[in-house]
Amino acid sequence: THFGFADVALERKQGLVDDVFHKVAERYDVMNDVMSGGLHRVWKDVMVGMVKPSRTAPFRHLDVAGGTGDVARRVARAGGPLTEVTVLDINHDMLRVGRDRLAEKARDFRYVAGNAESLPLPANRFDCYTIAFGIRNVPRIPLALAEAHRVLKRGGRFLCLEFSAVDVPGLDKVYEAFSFKVIPRMGQAIAGDAEPYRYLVESIRRFPGVDTFSDMIAEAGFRRVAATRLTGGVVTIHSAWKL
Ligand code: SAM
Repeated sequence: THFGFADVALERKQGLVDDVFHKVAERYDVMNDVMSGGLHRVWKDVMVGMVKPSRTAPFRHLDVAGGTGDVARRVARAGGPLTEVTVLDINHDMLRVGRDRLAEKARDFRYVAGNAESLPLPANRFDCYTIAFGIRNVPRIPLALAEAHRVLKRGGRFLCLEFSAVDVPGLDKVYEAFSFKVIPRMGQAIAGDAEPYRYLVESIRRFPGVDTFSDMIAEAGFRRVAATRLTGGVVTIHSAWKL
């Protein structure tokens, strides 16, 4: 039994994605660590290392599909007292788990429930926009990119961390086997449900290649689009500027 994604209409895709994350919200952080062998932490560190928030001047950061706040926490740590971090996610369960976790550290994050395709935020507001493992879940990626461009200030930076097609011979086979066999089984064992993880793996496979995605970013109006592959291309960071 699988979702038959090829037949799933665009409008239904968001519903499926939401079901996945409602189901896994409580276990999401554990699953991340188990499935990536902790590597997601390294990948997030690398991306946030590119954010470089000012330690003295005001810096407004927006993390879209922010989930439980992993990226937001890192940006806040890297920034100064005038760094303002907004976490946006379509799923309030994910935001709630993140908020509970962040509560201990008396840090003021702004939480916004909203859709990456139509951000409930003003234009020209943010110095940096990040999205980590989120863009492949968005049904209409060009809309999300256009919205990213709209809310960024001129001179603002777009950063996207996402799984990509593996380009190291041999590793691709291992990765395929891992993602299609091992990940759904881990999902079954840890979260009690393999289906959401089958969906996630499928969404990685369907995501456009690194060059196609770079073109899409440029089409949204961004300049100086660059892609950095990490870990043999298991993930890629796309960077671009609103100039
Ligand atoms: N960025 C976090 C991280 O790296 O740990 C969470 C990534 S999680 C794999 C994907 C997140 O995207 C989920 O929290 C989900 O609710 C959110 N999401 C899915 N579709 C979205 C949309 N259209 N707009 C905003 N967020 C969305």
